[in-house]
Amino acid sequence: MQNDNNKPLVLIVDDTPTNIQVLAETLRADYRVKVATSGQAALDIVGREGGKPDLILLDVMMAGMDGYEVCRRLKDNPDTHGIPVIFVTAKNDAQDEERGLRLGAMDYIAKPFHPAIVKARVQNHISLKMKTDLLESLALIDGLTGIPNRRRLDETLDAEWKRGLRNGTPLAVAMADIDYFKAYNDHYGHGGGDECLKAVARALSSSLVRPADMMARYGGEEFAAVMPDTDAAGAKLLAQRWCDNVAALVLPHACSSAGGHVTVSVGYACQVPEAPQSPQMLLEMADKMLYQAKEHGRNQVCGSQ
Ligand code: GH3
Ligand code: MG
Ligand code: MG
Repeated sequence: MQNDNNKPLVLIVDDTPTNIQVLAETLRADYRVKVATSGQAALDIVGREGGKPDLILLDVMMAGMDGYEVCRRLKDNPDTHGIPVIFVTAKNDAQDEERGLRLGAMDYIAKPFHPAIVKARVQNHISLKMKTDLLESLALIDGLTGIPNRRRLDETLDAEWKRGLRNGTPLAVAMADIDYFKAYNDHYGHGGGDECLKAVARALSSSLVRPADMMARYGGEEFAAVMPDTDAAGAKLLAQRWCDNVAALVLPHACSSAGGHVTVSVGYACQVPEAPQSPQMLLEMADKMLYQAKEHGRNQVCGSQ
């Protein structure tokens, strides 16, 4: 049995309650359904955390903001651009249909609608959306280690920076780099190096305890974490846990002068986001701190706030 929360979410937007009722009845067995009786209410729902639907059935003629305008706003916003929109409307001349499709709508269903046809079309578009989501998620995952990649981290960092700007909450980042990894590869071979990277990635990932924290493979043997709402003391804890947990793997490293096993050096930085600065500057600061940890002898953390 599929868990209800795993069902795709469909948002029905119509200012006529009976239309909403019929559509909701048609779809409720297969989808989670949310409803809005105005364009503005629809945008509010979509903007809320966890409210982003997998598909929107959108009435065109509504009092206040019409469906075309709702669609235009959704398509203009990078956060909501990818949500498929199907217009459900009594306006069914070719010109109206063309206008809707040009605005980026996926499909057009004429009123009065046939529930079985609505159901079939929704199913087609949802299945396409699920495939697109899967492809996108695959492109955000590092192929070797299976953890998020740099692109995904940069996206998260940007979003969390903006959240910190709005809320005045601190944002921390940490960067880890495997010590003497070039020598590891030279000694154990590239395949051995890959296995080491996977083991280190697992140890680092399992060190994250807060649900909002995320980490990625940032480059070859570099890893980075974004920690929302975290001050310097919290960042230091994670950085130290990273060091300790990698050392605890006790992976032999014949060519390391940092104790004969695989270790990482970690730099961290933290600040309350401010307008003239950028999230990339925070990352650069963590990188600078990482360089200092290397300078001071590796297998250690170094940070700034
Ligand atoms: P330091 O202690 O200063 O960090 O020295 P280092 O040798 O770790 O640093 P350097 O940047 O010189 O070397 C990084 C090495 O990481 C070189 C590169 O071949 C290796 N590397 C990068 N990506 C991969 C990968 O996907 N697999 C393997 N096996 N090695 C990789
Ligand atoms: Mg490096
Ligand atoms: Mg290194």
